[in-house]
Amino acid sequence: MIILVGASASGKTEVAKQLVMNFGYKKCITTTTRTPRQGEEDGVSYHFVSKEEFKKLKMDNAFVESATYQNEYYGTQKKDLITKGIIILEPNGANALIDYLKEKALVVLIYSPKRLRKERMIKRGDQLAKIKPRLKKDDRLFAKKNLTKVDLYLVNKNEPLESLAAKIDNFYQECKTS
Ligand code: 5GP
Repeated sequence: MIILVGASASGKTEVAKQLVMNFGYKKCITTTTRTPRQGEEDGVSYHFVSKEEFKKLKMDNAFVESATYQNEYYGTQKKDLITKGIIILEPNGANALIDYLKEKALVVLIYSPKRLRKERMIKRGDQLAKIKPRLKKDDRLFAKKNLTKVDLYLVNKNEPLESLAAKIDNFYQECKTS
């Protein structure tokens, strides 16, 4: 299982899409209480649930891990963990899953400079007032030191997404055969 970690607008979602479309990985669908963004679909981007539904799932012990990010709940349900899966998590969730999966977890951290993340956020229509605090918070939250392990550290300075995805796939194949 590949755990993909990166700040908002670091390119992680697009890289995950490439891995699914061109390299045969399957995206693990996680669960969130946030509202869908434009183009996002329930059951494809996330399982979108209400806060009440989320709490019920938690009580039923459905999650491997859950976290709060930007005042919304996010969680990985046990039923959604799959073979050759790729999952996008913030560092707390990633650490919990690393604990659960042990050596089966390959952790990829994507770093992208603040200037580029800001440009992408503006382009995708994020509210201007929210961009600055989010960039600042993300720099702290997504620091390498917050992860219990990082197997592959990638820098995305507008590198083609296919090339980033190929690096991850090569690494995954190497780990499988070593
Ligand atoms: P976004 O709302 O931008 O899609 O995601 C916000 C953050 O939540 C991202 O850093 C993403 O990796 C993280 N995230 C998505 N699903 C989960 C999950 O199931 N658990 C945890 N801990 N984080 C998640």
